[in-house]
Amino acid sequence: MPLQQQRPTGKGANQEAVRRHNLGTLLGHVHRDTDVSRADLTTRMGLNRSTIAALVVELERLGVVAQASPRGDRQGAGRPSLHVRPGERHVCVIAVELRVESIEVARISLGGTVHGRLSVPVEVGASPEQVADQIARTAADLLDDVPPDTLLVGVGVGIPGVVSADDGRIHYAPNLAWSDVAFTELVQDRLGGEVPVVIGNDANLGVLAEHARGVARGMSDVVYLSGDVGVGGGLITRGRSLLGTVGYAGEVGHMRVSVGGRLCRCGNRGCWETEIGAVAVAEALGTPSHDIAHLVGLLDQVGTPSVALREVGRMLGVGLTNLINIFDPQVVILGGLLSALYPAVSAEVDAEVVRGTLDSEDRRTEVVLPGLGRDSVLVGAGELAFGAMLSDPLLVVAAAEEAVRRVRVAAA
Ligand SMILES: [Zn+2]
Repeated sequence: MPLQQQRPTGKGANQEAVRRHNLGTLLGHVHRDTDVSRADLTTRMGLNRSTIAALVVELERLGVVAQASPRGDRQGAGRPSLHVRPGERHVCVIAVELRVESIEVARISLGGTVHGRLSVPVEVGASPEQVADQIARTAADLLDDVPPDTLLVGVGVGIPGVVSADDGRIHYAPNLAWSDVAFTELVQDRLGGEVPVVIGNDANLGVLAEHARGVARGMSDVVYLSGDVGVGGGLITRGRSLLGTVGYAGEVGHMRVSVGGRLCRCGNRGCWETEIGAVAVAEALGTPSHDIAHLVGLLDQVGTPSVALREVGRMLGVGLTNLINIFDPQVVILGGLLSALYPAVSAEVDAEVVRGTLDSEDRRTEVVLPGLGRDSVLVGAGELAFGAMLSDPLLVVAAAEEAVRRVRVAAA
């Protein structure tokens, strides 16, 4: 259900919109840094001290932030600037990551602390309705022991597939064998109908999380690759997510790298994921299983890579070269199976990247592993769920007052 609000009209409406926007921006700084001085907020937001003070008081009244003296020693003379932190009230989201073999669900509070986490197995061939049921039950379990005045401000779900940012539908999720599913609606219905649910492509959420809290913090241009059976890309350029017209951008696994190469799940030949995905890695390792945990275990034990595995590494480098030449990122982050593949074949990958990119010696894109390990997508789902709160806290708090009770009732 879309959120609605009554807005005043005319000049007052404009000022009101600016104030709400500023409240969200300020709360965003507290969410990302968990402890930020009012002096810093003044500088970062370009507003005067009294405006910042008024905004903080308003958020404090909602219980979502609190003010305190700075931790540690006082510096210099005079009164130190008060610090702003997440408030007494438990403001949280439910973050969900659909993996091929499991559903990961976490309760994450303002500031990014994970308060509870459950992993439930998914049966092969599970329907969207069954998975939505499992998400709702698991979310209710995680909300079982929260304080009475908890605010549940959203639910974010990471999907291994192509997702429309406009209408919350899953266009195509090959690993789950789903296509054209109104998944946002399915989950929302099972959560009692009123909690805002947002879904996102897993790689897009991976890049969001690594940019907010991981290895790409503070960077403006980032490429994140999720790689398991398929390979997906999440892109940030000049500080903004690159999603394309309806959110389908970043399907880099279907970049054609080999004319007349192997047949891909998409029906074409020579796609990048046919060269570096789980099937290609399993073949190079000489194992019939495509199970990700099994492949990661084997990759961890590789000493000297075989000729076949080195070729997989070379093809990883070929695709990275294309991406680096197109997007000129500061870093490329290798997630999922690729984070285990890279250490085994880094010599081949790096040689190909150095040979193929237009970077110079002193300005070279770094290829790195995720700062959040296996949890980038889950953390990104949490960031996605906080999005509405950080754009208009007043609106979302009013709607969230009842949310925890509704989810529990719906699951009962
Ligand atoms: Zn393909």
